[in-house]
Amino acid sequence: MKPARIVLSPMIYEEELKLSLGAFNSNTIAEDISRFEQQCQSILNINRPILALNSGTAAIHLSLLLAGIKKGDHVLCQSMTFVASANPLLYIGAIPVFIDSEKNSWNMDPQLMEEAYQDLKGKGIHVKAIMLTSIYGMPFDYESISAFAKANQLKLIDDSAEALGSSFQNKANGTLGDYGIISFNNNKIITTSGGGLLVCPCQEQYERGLFLATQAKEKQPYYQHEEIGYNYRMGHINALLGLAQLPYLLSRIRSRRAMNAFYQELFKDIAGVTVQVEKTADYYSNHWLSAILVDPSKTGGISREDLRLALEAENIESRPLWKPMHLQPLYEKYPYYGGTVCEELFEQGLCLPSGSNLTDTDRSRIKAAVLKVFNS
Ligand SMILES: *Cc1c(COP(=O)(O)O)cnc(C)c1O
Repeated sequence: MKPARIVLSPMIYEEELKLSLGAFNSNTIAEDISRFEQQCQSILNINRPILALNSGTAAIHLSLLLAGIKKGDHVLCQSMTFVASANPLLYIGAIPVFIDSEKNSWNMDPQLMEEAYQDLKGKGIHVKAIMLTSIYGMPFDYESISAFAKANQLKLIDDSAEALGSSFQNKANGTLGDYGIISFNNNKIITTSGGGLLVCPCQEQYERGLFLATQAKEKQPYYQHEEIGYNYRMGHINALLGLAQLPYLLSRIRSRRAMNAFYQELFKDIAGVTVQVEKTADYYSNHWLSAILVDPSKTGGISREDLRLALEAENIESRPLWKPMHLQPLYEKYPYYGGTVCEELFEQGLCLPSGSNLTDTDRSRIKAAVLKVFNS
């Protein structure tokens, strides 16, 4: 018989779903959603208002609208990300300019970002904003990038969809930009079975965001509409699910970080395999997913794909890293600044099982499967 499948990241937790439904009361919809927003504020340790939405993608779209990004505006965007960071730019007809990653964090390279900005400026193009991702939970280089954004009056959008609980110099991911995004999609570290947060710069922008997220209904007793709105507000049951799970965030992070430590130990003597780790004490990752690079020129020819297929044969799920945006057919025609760092990450990178619910038996199976590949 095939052993049970070890997955990359678990989905909904049954116990919490039951807890949330137990708390269901149709008279308290607004209060429950606002209670969820307040708890998120306290977790991120900020006073800025937080808007609960039905997805991280909706939060990114709203952040662009609130930041005043318009059709034809240029926005610097990390190439190494999930497509949802970039798509909202196309929703509004803005122009993404993709930037390569640095080897350190795997996120946007601050030097290339500056080069792109200056080069575009030389061509008479004034960039409006920067879209940053913290992939797999690893923060981007906030220190360099925020200083540059401030000096040049660029809006900073912190897509921390994957990085709830991560921080840079103790400043929480999600609060690193003018706007911050967190996702509670099915596979994220906390899931509300679909949901997202938009961290707003001020109360006024929160109100405006809420207006746009609820069909832009004007303050009239009847349905009056003067501009385009969206159906982006978080649902009641999703908020309850979030409230049931937030208390477990720290323990989830502890488990995910322990999985990362497990992989560091497992691969430390295997030449040509490196684990994504924090390079300095400034960075603190929730290690939502643990990821490795497999360099076949140093492993004696064993590639990422060899390892992935060997794990699959043992019913262990693993997955290549995000395919960079500038390599996507959808985004081919947009400008790209950089070399081959994120292309190499894509060719050599593999996400490994990282769930908070993995057992010692699961870890033994993963270890045995990995050693079989590298010791044969
Ligand atoms: C998951 C994710 C999103 C989108 O969040 P949803 O809640 O799924 O819409 C955006 N950006 C990144 C980097 C993500 O990983």
